[in-house]
Amino acid sequence: MLPAPAGLSKPYVLVVEDEAALATMLRYNLEKQGFRVEEAVDGQEALTRISEGVPDIVLLDWMLPVMSGIEVCRQIRRRPATRDLPVIMVTARTEDGDAVRGLNTGADDYITKPFNMDALLARMRALLRRAGAVPVRGQHAFHDITMDLSAHRVHRNGRAIHLGPTEFRLLEFLMQHPRRVFSREELLNAVWGPDIHVEPRTVDVHIRRLRKSINGEGELDVVRTVRAAGYALDTEQI
Ligand code: CA
Repeated sequence: MLPAPAGLSKPYVLVVEDEAALATMLRYNLEKQGFRVEEAVDGQEALTRISEGVPDIVLLDWMLPVMSGIEVCRQIRRRPATRDLPVIMVTARTEDGDAVRGLNTGADDYITKPFNMDALLARMRALLRRAGAVPVRGQHAFHDITMDLSAHRVHRNGRAIHLGPTEFRLLEFLMQHPRRVFSREELLNAVWGPDIHVEPRTVDVHIRRLRKSINGEGELDVVRTVRAAGYALDTEQI
């Protein structure tokens, strides 16, 4: 059995919404898209959550009990730690005119209920990209390596890297769990599948091919070999 995924690469979204059905729908869809989701049902709880750990992005309902979305947004902008935190204001259609004022109070964008999930995701991704460094579904980044899963492309230092299918899956798995050491058996299970019976030494062969492909002349070896333990994607070899 593999240990639980590290979760390091999951962007964290705080959903502030007092309508339980809408919050549940958002959680379901966002988790499916690879986000870590926390919820708050009123403005005060939202600020508490944010002070416990700054999210990567906030979906903020306009009409909330205790404290309005606008006031929450003002407070977010007032705190140095959250001044640049991406906020999408969620408004009901009747409040649409007010939405512009919402942007003036510091929201980065807004969306009107009822909204289309794809439209919301597109706005979220645009904001996350602008905020930088937050991985989005379908993309991995480690050190100077990027991996675009939908386009099936790998780049290092801007240079295209060509990998065989097994090396591609191996790198994808390692990039999902950077710095974690996996035994040959764990890698076989995760990359080849539990029902495929191949020698653990097969892993060594593919790790060697992966290294050869991604480590260019004078570049850092990003695959760490840990004697008697296995392999990890790491910039430190010791
Ligand atoms: Ca509401």
